[in-house]
Amino acid sequence: MFNDFIININSREFMKHLLDAQNFEKWINLKRNEINIKNSLGNYDWKFIFKNFHAIDKDNRFTSFSQRDNTSFKGKIFMNELPTLDKLKVRRSDLYKDWKCPCCNKFEEDLHHLWSCSKSINILRRIILELIKEIKNLTKRQISRGKLLFWRDFENNIVTYFNSLSKIYNIIENKIPCSLIKEISNMTNSKEKSYNILHQAFNKMYIDLKEKIWIPRCKILIEKERKYKISKKVKRSTMNSKIEKKGTKRSKGGVGINIADRKKLLIDSIDTWQT
Ligand SMILES: [Zn+2]
Repeated sequence: MFNDFIININSREFMKHLLDAQNFEKWINLKRNEINIKNSLGNYDWKFIFKNFHAIDKDNRFTSFSQRDNTSFKGKIFMNELPTLDKLKVRRSDLYKDWKCPCCNKFEEDLHHLWSCSKSINILRRIILELIKEIKNLTKRQISRGKLLFWRDFENNIVTYFNSLSKIYNIIENKIPCSLIKEISNMTNSKEKSYNILHQAFNKMYIDLKEKIWIPRCKILIEKERKYKISKKVKRSTMNSKIEKKGTKRSKGGVGINIADRKKLLIDSIDTWQT
């Protein structure tokens, strides 16, 4: 039973669906100002957007890091919670006040700059070319001979979904247009097959974004932090004193922060230091 509803699937599966639904709701609320939900109902494939929150099960092709890590990375992008410098500055302006993008050292770093930085843009280009190739390969395996007549048109049409940075940002942030799904469905004669093709291709794209852009960028940032003697200990101790300064009395027993602050500290630490 859950909120008076009878649940007829196992509890693990149920929790997975519940978390997906909660994440989806959070995502909708975040994007509400950017996307006019009412007018966009027909433009975006909501069923696929929801599916894209799931991890791909039983996929053994990628062994470089676990599927769970990839889902967490993907989730942070969807929620705009990846700890880029614009986020770090809000949380710790005392440490990162004048810091620019760790890769080019010229511009402010936010999620869009992360992908379009002069040091990343060629890598992004290659990742997107790989993504297009993967979509085409996976689609080709699912089509009948008769559909090969339309293959050239299909190839040309697919490229148009990735021919500008703003379209690529949308794809990376899970704003998937209906027309893209329709394009693939026209070839496979099945919406479900199109969902699986894109889900699989996007999953590989997120692995590439993480391994080829995000992790190398984090390594550069860590190096810079080391240079400025910003160790994990420094970050934590300053954070502690900041919280204490806010007026929380130190108890006789030692730890001077209340449970809510401690929870916030923990969340901040995880978000800030975990890549
Ligand atoms: Zn940059």
